[in-house]
Amino acid sequence: MPLFEYECRGCGSRFEHLTRPDRPAICPACQGVELQKQLSVFAAQSSTPAKSFTHAPPAPCGSCGDPRGPGSCSTN
Ligand SMILES: [Zn+2]
Repeated sequence: MPLFEYECRGCGSRFEHLTRPDRPAICPACQGVELQKQLSVFAAQSSTPAKSFTHAPPAPCGSCGDPRGPGSCSTN
């Protein structure tokens, strides 16, 4: 769902608006249509790549299960 945050250029108030083709964003305070689209806080958080955090091993080797010992697989 395209939920965007807008800042009104007329009065400076910020609000969120669920964008729909038949319902353009209008400032609820002054009914202005000169709006600056902001990045939604929720959308920005959900799109943050946190995978590199959780899936990155603590070391490049040592836990790969190579029978020759820790670090052996990196010499190939
Ligand atoms: Zn306004």
